[in-house]
Amino acid sequence: MLLTIWPLLISWLISLPRSVFMSGLKEKSRLDRLISLGIDKLGPTRLSMVSPYQGNMEKSGKHISVLMYHSISEDSCPGRHPYYQTHTPLTVFARHMEMLFNGSHIVLRLKEAVDLLCSPNDVKGDLVVITFDDAFDDFLTHALPILEKYEFPATVFVASGLVGKRNSVFLNKSCMSWDDLAGLEDHGIELGSHTISHVRLAKLSMSDMEEEIVASRTELQKNLGVEIDAFSCPYAFPEADSNFVKAYLKFLDQGGYRCGVTTRIGRASNDESRYLIRRLPINYADDDRFFAAKLNGSYDWMNSIQYLKKKIQFAIASGGK
Ligand SMILES: [Zn+2]
Repeated sequence: MLLTIWPLLISWLISLPRSVFMSGLKEKSRLDRLISLGIDKLGPTRLSMVSPYQGNMEKSGKHISVLMYHSISEDSCPGRHPYYQTHTPLTVFARHMEMLFNGSHIVLRLKEAVDLLCSPNDVKGDLVVITFDDAFDDFLTHALPILEKYEFPATVFVASGLVGKRNSVFLNKSCMSWDDLAGLEDHGIELGSHTISHVRLAKLSMSDMEEEIVASRTELQKNLGVEIDAFSCPYAFPEADSNFVKAYLKFLDQGGYRCGVTTRIGRASNDESRYLIRRLPINYADDDRFFAAKLNGSYDWMNSIQYLKKKIQFAIASGGK
């Protein structure tokens, strides 16, 4: 019975008009939030009965919540659904950090988390990693003081060609300068690469993709004098495109990276490549209950929906070949 409900539920969610599922609802009543809160009430392990993905996650026994923030500001993107917004106001961010601190979560550096996931030892406690994509200068003014208050480490992913600039890809928000970035290591902040020009890698030729991945690391290391271990892939990760994924893994490995994070939804676990780490997208719409549900694994179900959507989009784009 349960096994028959799950595919039906997926097809229902996928077939819902975009205007209903992703565009037309307000923060509190959006469907992914309501389902996640329901799962959280039941306990996410219950979902393993109907979701093969969730079942594997629970069996793997190693889960680390890698949080994905972008801008810590009030700068919303007009017309964009809450799911796709990338801003988190200072008050909301401060509340999230307070919840982590009061909830006795252990905040790790990304490299520590990767070591733990790759080691044969079990993971103990509620482990969290905090990441910021795009390196906006509001990280310095808004996020850093709160992180320092709780002594939380974090990782900031930098597009090396956009350092110190305002660019239309970021709606003209300004990015930290080389001087700003150079001081961050002393505050427990690790830096990673986010390509050179913040492009959709799957749209590039293989040589251009390699350049964006490998040369961005070289440029960051040259200018900052630190080892760059981690890479963050901009935009939706095209995981349904197996040729892309194969090349991507090769370039990260050859480029000298130790790990990579993506926009694939869910807690990180040891059942996948260290170059394809899942994250939990966090923004202004994460009220206390939604944020707690994500940390509990009650948002991991979205990975299946996200993957299926990408599979369908890729099949359509490639004409069924
Ligand atoms: Zn980005």
